[in-house]
Amino acid sequence: MTAAGRFAPSPSGTLHVGNLRTALLAWLFARTTGRAFWIRMENLDRTARGADVQQLADLAALGIEWDEPVSYQTDRLDVYRSVIAELTDAGETFECFCTRREILEAPSAPHAPDGAYPGTCRNLTDAQRAEKIAAGRPPAIRLRAAVAYFTVSDTQLGEYTGMVDDFVICRGDGIPAYNLAVVIDDAAQGVDQVVRGDDLLSSAPRQAYLATRLGHPPPSYSHVPMVLNNKHIRLSKRDGAVTLADLAAAGVSTATVLSRIAESLGLADHGEIVDIAALASRFDPAALPREPWIVTPDVFAG
Ligand code: GLU
Repeated sequence: MTAAGRFAPSPSGTLHVGNLRTALLAWLFARTTGRAFWIRMENLDRTARGADVQQLADLAALGIEWDEPVSYQTDRLDVYRSVIAELTDAGETFECFCTRREILEAPSAPHAPDGAYPGTCRNLTDAQRAEKIAAGRPPAIRLRAAVAYFTVSDTQLGEYTGMVDDFVICRGDGIPAYNLAVVIDDAAQGVDQVVRGDDLLSSAPRQAYLATRLGHPPPSYSHVPMVLNNKHIRLSKRDGAVTLADLAAAGVSTATVLSRIAESLGLADHGEIVDIAALASRFDPAALPREPWIVTPDVFAG
């Protein structure tokens, strides 16, 4: 299988310049190392009608191209469910009836890292389980984790060790969880290079651990800095003109957006207009900024 990178947006709305910057980086990492590049629509959660098509159009407008086909996680529910069933048959999962609130309020297990699942439902007796089922609460399925921490290697951040707990692999509503789907899909698509926003760094140990449990080598990670607004809060569409369409309406061309993103990555001079091929020839992961990019209303002006 060809080694691959990927961009995996949730089609919940239009991509903003922060998402586009991460997509550009994922493309640069993959294509400058001869990898395939997949787009995967992570649509197990809330989606907006037509957002996938708009996202693909915006990526293409920047010059990003990808290998076909674009995949959709909702087309792969059977694959995820068969892995959940295998783990369950092997005794490696348990049903969890806890609400979010019960988890927050439960005393944490001895030696467990902060924020870890407290283990409430890990060892329920058959009678206790039957009682909970009779009470009508649909259970989530959690993986029995055999470790409390796992170390991943990140090209930008070095080694990162983070918590692994008995995390949810199938939600109470029966939908497989993101943390499971991402691992199965990356392995199935030959993805050995994961480039994404550093807000996902803390989920990498769980995902890499699950990959090893399923017999797949974990990918290399490149968690890249987020894009923040002028209050240093993660950029969102409430921050004004931050999508290609809104910027175009404000008179900012897509070429200018790409060039300003490139400038923020140290890949273009101020005011220089570049295309994506030029960025690929200049790209050096070691020289990427380690700090977030602060987008103020004047970044795209002038
Ligand atoms: N779907 C996730 C997001 O849009 C990205 C997951 C990933 O890259 O692993 O934030």
